[in-house]
Amino acid sequence: MTLHQNHLPTMMDSTSSSLHASLAKLELSDGNSLYAKLVVGADGAKSRVRELTGFKTTGWNYSQNAVICTVEHKTENQCAWQRFLPSGPIALLPVGDKFSNIVWTMNPKESSACREMNENDFVKALNHALNYGYGPHPQSNLLGNNGDIFSWFRRDLTVSANECFEVPPDVVKLVSGRMVFPLSLRHANNYASKRVVLIGDAAHTVHPLAGQGVNLGFGDAFALSRIISEGIAVGTDIGEVCILNFL
Ligand SMILES: Cc1cc2nc3c(=O)[nH]c(=O)nc-3n(C[C@H](O)[C@H](O)[C@H](O)COP(=O)(O)OP(=O)(O)OC[C@H]3O[C@@H](n4cnc5c(N)ncnc54)[C@H](O)[C@@H]3O)c2cc1C
Repeated sequence: MTLHQNHLPTMMDSTSSSLHASLAKLELSDGNSLYAKLVVGADGAKSRVRELTGFKTTGWNYSQNAVICTVEHKTENQCAWQRFLPSGPIALLPVGDKFSNIVWTMNPKESSACREMNENDFVKALNHALNYGYGPHPQSNLLGNNGDIFSWFRRDLTVSANECFEVPPDVVKLVSGRMVFPLSLRHANNYASKRVVLIGDAAHTVHPLAGQGVNLGFGDAFALSRIISEGIAVGTDIGEVCILNFL
């Protein structure tokens, strides 16, 4: 794919009012070309549109991988859970019925071990991480009454901390393969250039721990659609960078 941001079209219908307007031209690998007033780079973290346009980015690798899979419970899970473990957060995200997605962050060595271990051991490790991954478990002796190491903490317990914490529903089965993704932060220094704009992960790739990646992308799409419709309403060229910079 090649991208020309300011192409003067020669192949357009001579009656077209945009005959002399400059358009972006995308030359696709199959030999076809596309012309547009605006190219929206919504092509993810490794955005080719971002690369072709020459947008600079700032970011770094986290030296952490995420192990992703789908699991089954005995009962329906309607709650999203997240535990912050020393190695990184683990999230259990309901996807309907008795199924949940797992996003488990850990160092690359641990993630390889998690991918390689047999299914039973993986499910055991998963339940351990979800149920025992932080602090003492409700049944733990550490929370007993006889001079334990948490006595200093219990003196100032709030009402909610006095409540026994809930544990997520046990995972009984793995229902997908285990995939491993390296995690990184990447932020485009600019989102807009002449006739090109970046949205979603192409503009900003964030750590999945806050679960905000999709919402950020929806926010971008909403803001861009508003800018485009306002631009069209007042007859502005929607590919002009001064308009797009409001994103
Ligand atoms: C391990 C992990 C866990 C995550 N967990 C969460 C979570 O719990 N909650 C959350 O909100 N977010 C999460 N995210 C982030 C979320 O997945 C992304 O923020 C979101 O998918 C970004 O959407 P997007 O449409 O910008 O990019 P993408 O979802 O990457 O979509 C880009 C699309 O462009 C296509 N594409 C790319 N190049 C080309 C090309 N040259 N030609 C044609 N098509 C192309 C791709 O095939 C893809 O379909 C997670 C991310 C990771 C890596």
